[in-house]
Amino acid sequence: MSLCQPEHSSLACVSCCGIFNLRLSLKNILLLLNQRTSSFKETGLQKSSIIRYRELQEQQESIIKRFDSEIYVCPFLGYLHESKPGCMIHPQITQKQQSQNYSFYGAAICQSYNCRNKDSALDWSVVFQKASTDWIEYSRLSGYHLQTNKIINKFKISKQADIESLQSALVQECRQWLQGNKNLPVTSFEIYDP
Ligand code: SF4
Ligand code: SF4
Repeated sequence: MSLCQPEHSSLACVSCCGIFNLRLSLKNILLLLNQRTSSFKETGLQKSSIIRYRELQEQQESIIKRFDSEIYVCPFLGYLHESKPGCMIHPQITQKQQSQNYSFYGAAICQSYNCRNKDSALDWSVVFQKASTDWIEYSRLSGYHLQTNKIINKFKISKQADIESLQSALVQECRQWLQGNKNLPVTSFEIYDP
């Protein structure tokens, strides 16, 4: 089960692509993703068009304030299906293994980056899916390892079986955290609590 793109689910985590680093309301995040998706579809998958799309989209989004000016916001994040977000230049979309080289990070980083939750031996995807009502909530939970660590300590979790046996309580804990952190700018690169 992939934490980033769980199978058979409309949920996905996209925190490390920078979208929550934009100082936008949730409504405007959704509008922006719709705009990116339509513009990218119109652009097509020719090399020159993809490069042009990135230039124009970055220019257009440069007026949006960031929480952290050091953290990149990638314009290739859009919708893959009706409401499932993901990378619009992922090899599965373009059929080209290196197509993420059109992005700032490049294919090597995009395909190998593991945030701390993804890198963990513990699989949280089921708990996070059950706790989330949409991909935004799922992304906040999946991308924010500082909260996961707090849960691990609070419930004394040391193995996968603990997650399974405590599932209801963990889902409830995640729901409570989501309610109190609706606007947290999760990027997956957090070191300290803001
Ligand atoms: S923040 Fe982690 S779980 Fe989310 S998309 Fe990135 S690597 Fe995957
Ligand atoms: S190119 Fe990389 S950073 Fe950009 S949306 Fe795709 S995976 Fe995310």
